[in-house]
Amino acid sequence: MTQPRTVLVVGGGAAGNAVTILLRRAGLAVDLIEAKDDWNATAGSGITLQGNALRVLRELGVWERVEASGFGFGSVGITAPDGTVLHVQDDLRTGGDDLPATVGMQRPRLQQILIEAVRSSGATVRLGTTAEILDQDADGVRVRLSDGTERRYDLVVAADGLGSGTRAAIGIRAKPEPTGMAIWRVAAPRPAGVTRTDLAYGGPAYIAGYCPTSETTLYAYVVEANRDRASIPAESYADEMRRLTSAYGGHWPEITAHLTDPAKVNYTWFDRMLVEGSWHRGRVVLVGDAAHCCPPTLAQGAALSLEDAWVLAQMLTATETWDDALFQAYYERRVPRVRPVVEASVQIGRWQLDGVRDADVPGLMGRTMTMLRELP
Ligand SMILES: Cc1cc2nc3c(=O)[nH]c(=O)nc-3n(C[C@H](O)[C@H](O)[C@H](O)COP(=O)(O)OP(=O)(O)OC[C@H]3O[C@@H](n4cnc5c(N)ncnc54)[C@H](O)[C@@H]3O)c2cc1C
Repeated sequence: MTQPRTVLVVGGGAAGNAVTILLRRAGLAVDLIEAKDDWNATAGSGITLQGNALRVLRELGVWERVEASGFGFGSVGITAPDGTVLHVQDDLRTGGDDLPATVGMQRPRLQQILIEAVRSSGATVRLGTTAEILDQDADGVRVRLSDGTERRYDLVVAADGLGSGTRAAIGIRAKPEPTGMAIWRVAAPRPAGVTRTDLAYGGPAYIAGYCPTSETTLYAYVVEANRDRASIPAESYADEMRRLTSAYGGHWPEITAHLTDPAKVNYTWFDRMLVEGSWHRGRVVLVGDAAHCCPPTLAQGAALSLEDAWVLAQMLTATETWDDALFQAYYERRVPRVRPVVEASVQIGRWQLDGVRDADVPGLMGRTMTMLRELP
């Protein structure tokens, strides 16, 4: 009997977890290493999962659990800063008509569902572990783990996120670049009337929005120009966010009343990056934020990361030949889909930063989302 192929997945976020589950299902031997000791120490409060993300989650076998834990909805409201609803737009069902357009979820809940699926896939998981790529040849990669052991793998999947050390280690020099915006985020109880995402443009922030994440919770966010992070003490986070949100009406006063604990407020800059030319060197291949990232103006980062994992797993399990041509084909298949999302996500923010008032945001969003309805 031939031995199953061996894969090391570096990073246990959405992309790494998804690729692990799919490769294990195909019978490959997968080791997943995650740098954090606490695998579910996820930053950020909530996440907006569009249909194309849900389609991959269904493929992973976790859709029922996601559906039961999250909050599904099918439209977005555009409001004035005082909360007056100006327009309600139906969201496109990018995952197909049998899935909701959108599900809001608490990030730790999504991660927990994926962690359990990885655990039951039979992958070997090592937490608090990183790896150093030692050398590669045509058939594999020799890796030294931070526990001092050395192993050889047929393939290394770099799913170690935006600041991927694996990407740098294989000589890919792309780095995330700030887009000029930053976001304040918090989880809060869901006011009964919040049943979809509402976005207010204008007021003291570029965008003030919220997304229901369960029957009892939502996450709320405000987007402004980025500021020197060192100049904002962590203990002032709740005050800073409250200062911005208290100018908004509608459901905001109820949300703002819960903005008291600075440790629960997250502040992050928006970045963009797209690795050009190829997403691999030899037998090390990038997925997810390690290969691309975009500001969440279209809420597509995790969706694209899950799609990368799905496509890569399909391609790896469809052939015995893992070579340059295969990994290049993976890049060529992904980049025509990823590039327009990265560019549109950046463009929407740019228009706001530049104060362009007549920009065709709905048109750009509509074209991008229509493209995403196609299978990846
Ligand atoms: C403010 C904000 C809001 C967002 N909102 C949305 C949204 O609503 N919808 C959406 O679809 N996307 C959204 N995104 C994007 C989404 O969060 C990311 O695209 C997604 O998390 C990327 O998943 P990943 O698995 O590639 O990377 P990550 O989630 O970053 O996971 C990488 C993992 O690798 C681990 N790691 C790092 N280095 C090493 C190492 N050397 N060895 C081992 N492990 C390592 C990390 O600890 C981490 O667990 C948002 C992003 C931001 C910044």
